[in-house]
Amino acid sequence: MNLQSIAQHDLARWQSVAQDARQRVEPRHFIDGDWADSIDGGRFETIDPSSGEVIAEIAAGSEKDIDRAVAAAKKAFRSGCWSRMAPRDRMAVLYRFADLISENAEQLAVLETLDMGKPISDVINVDLPLVCETIRFMAECIDKVDGAVTNTAADAMHFILREPLGVVGAITPWNYPMLMAAWKFAPALAAGNCVVLKPAEQSPMSCPRLAELFMEAGGPAGVFSVVNGMGEVAGQALALHHDVAKISFTGSTEVGKLMLQYAGQSNMKHVGLECGGKSPQIFMSDLPDLGQAVEAAYRGIYENMGEVCNAGSRLLVQRSIYDEFVERFRSEGQFAYRPGQPLDPATSMGPLVTKGDQRRVLDMIETGSAEGARLVFGGDAPAELEPGAFVNPTLFADVNNEMSIARQEIFGPVACVIPFDGLEEAVHIANDTIYGLAASLWTRDVDTAMHMVRSIESGVVWVNTFDAGDFTQPFGGYKQSGNARDKCIDSFKSYTQTKSAWIQLSPPGGAS
Ligand code: NAD
Repeated sequence: MNLQSIAQHDLARWQSVAQDARQRVEPRHFIDGDWADSIDGGRFETIDPSSGEVIAEIAAGSEKDIDRAVAAAKKAFRSGCWSRMAPRDRMAVLYRFADLISENAEQLAVLETLDMGKPISDVINVDLPLVCETIRFMAECIDKVDGAVTNTAADAMHFILREPLGVVGAITPWNYPMLMAAWKFAPALAAGNCVVLKPAEQSPMSCPRLAELFMEAGGPAGVFSVVNGMGEVAGQALALHHDVAKISFTGSTEVGKLMLQYAGQSNMKHVGLECGGKSPQIFMSDLPDLGQAVEAAYRGIYENMGEVCNAGSRLLVQRSIYDEFVERFRSEGQFAYRPGQPLDPATSMGPLVTKGDQRRVLDMIETGSAEGARLVFGGDAPAELEPGAFVNPTLFADVNNEMSIARQEIFGPVACVIPFDGLEEAVHIANDTIYGLAASLWTRDVDTAMHMVRSIESGVVWVNTFDAGDFTQPFGGYKQSGNARDKCIDSFKSYTQTKSAWIQLSPPGGAS
């Protein structure tokens, strides 16, 4: 069932699809072109966060399983079956891969929703279309990204080849399981590398199926393997592996720092990091349209349950419009997202990913109140949805940037409004964080906008919008939000290395 046809499914239909999917969960890894159990037989439970029920026991990879997948990837890379495949042929496989993902959207969508609680409508309207678009964009780069011939003296020819790195290890989070994986495997594969992916243990079900679809599309065995398991076991083994040329990581800043250590302890592999954020949205009093700005504010923090790296979690509002802004957010934002069963296509907000995350976010909310922020609405769990891991949309006003809720990444549906007086104060507060992933600012004044674009320390700055963009846009962080750039041509290039070939020439006729 493809993406278009499943858009019409109602709740009953999704429940029946989900029931079927639960009975047929594939628990194994996908290694070297086939399904594989863990060598040591390890398993872990994956849990439906909307109900607390165990869905399945999934294979937990150990160092041995990682070794097996990396060895297969290295062999496939050295054979040239993928890395030296003609560019148009490699493109064709990736286009077919994207088509197959779309054709299998029903199964993939329901696995994602069961596993991490994301509303089914988000998976089919956001995640899956973007997974396909990522693969197609990176496929298009294959014969568009060139090496170079440089200007040398007449007695030499110098050219620069752009070559794949080898085996790429990808370690990904659970908030957009297939999409965050695609931001890594798509450019890595397109550039000719082989990939071993270790998904987050909270959302293990969808990515192994993607690797199987890659094979169905004509990808050679060993080129794309997926090993599930715990971060500190399978993830660490991958990041420490001597035959892995690059680790591409998306996740917390804390674990991102470990990746740099693992690279240093092993083979100096390349490390691409996409880590946490505490993104400011700055609302100047001359913003073009208050209604539009308030909508961007609540969408920017409640979308995907607030489990978004670039969530607009700090709302900096100029004091002259502060009361009106908070009141409009209260009246319009409070009921815009209602927690509900994620399989219902009408649901806009599912549970958090685990009960532990629900507890952590509720504790952060308590801390916010204890430190003096004003709870405007929310702050609790919806009783009627127990025992799911739900948290109601929450708004804190009168927050200052020293409070824990303004400094730590909450990764839940908790908005914090911080008042400020002037432009320089806004820039100071925006930059007063260890993170620098994204920011937005709202103003009609082009001078203010340009000054702020230049002054804000983050990898992405939006003006009079939030979370807009396309595949030409590099996405990644400054400071402790990371060092990589996803989505764009630079992302493709970051899975390549240059080789300089200098050819000394003899003068014409001189060789005789
Ligand atoms: P996490 O850091 O806990 O886990 C991420 C991945 O790392 C998982 O696969 C996990 O198993 C693995 N891991 C954990 N410990 C490891 C270790 N010692 N060695 C090797 N691997 C290990 O993050 P999470 O909770 O899954 O995801 C949420 C975080 O991801 C948030 O901080 C969020 O901001 C960030 N994120 C960033 C972006 C971005 O593009 N910048 C996108 C999505 C999520």
